[in-house]
Amino acid sequence: MSGIAENLGKVADRIEAACARAGRDPATVELIAVSKTCPVDSLREAVDAGQLQFGESKLQEAECKITLLPSHVRWHFIGRLQRNKVRKLLPQFAVIHAIDSFRIAAFTDEVARESGLFPKVFLQVNVGGEVSKGGFEPDELRSEIGGLLALKRLETMGLMCIPPAGSNAEAARPWFIMLRNLRDELEADNGVFLPFLSMGMSDDYEVAI
Ligand SMILES: *Cc1c(COP(=O)(O)O)cnc(C)c1O
Repeated sequence: MSGIAENLGKVADRIEAACARAGRDPATVELIAVSKTCPVDSLREAVDAGQLQFGESKLQEAECKITLLPSHVRWHFIGRLQRNKVRKLLPQFAVIHAIDSFRIAAFTDEVARESGLFPKVFLQVNVGGEVSKGGFEPDELRSEIGGLLALKRLETMGLMCIPPAGSNAEAARPWFIMLRNLRDELEADNGVFLPFLSMGMSDDYEVAI
């Protein structure tokens, strides 16, 4: 067994244990392997071990890997979405994780229409109100959600956050709770369905679950 297959097995065990603690069905959790900066051979090993979802944050780096890996791999764009990259990104990525303003959402919707696509997207929330991070402020999202969901070319999957850096994994918990509560509130107030939360990284994915 390759080192990567072994590590994926350990992560799967930890996901299962975290789900047991949280009373969740492991089938409701999806692992996106963040493959930015990793060589394509490592991705091939991961694919051979059954990992078919990868996260990339730079278009150019991703494009090279996308051409070299099987077409059933699903690519997630987790980087900051730049206007001038949207047209090239959309046909290559299954999911865009960081729609961080109404303006970029509306532009992505327009490009999707021109391209004949219905991209899956997440709305990024700046939970910690950090100037260094992108995303909607919670109040901003409360007032703009109606307009965002009216962009019919975008299939809005849910909310995404990158919490402020903390000293340990547990420090992220209040921010994850905040995102989940905001999601529940938006669903209840707007009669909409935002089924997924995109959150958790290597250090805190069990807390996110
Ligand atoms: C790099 C990156 C990750 C992965 O971080 P790890 O700590 O390596 O898990 C997750 N999300 C985003 C948005 C990233 O840019």
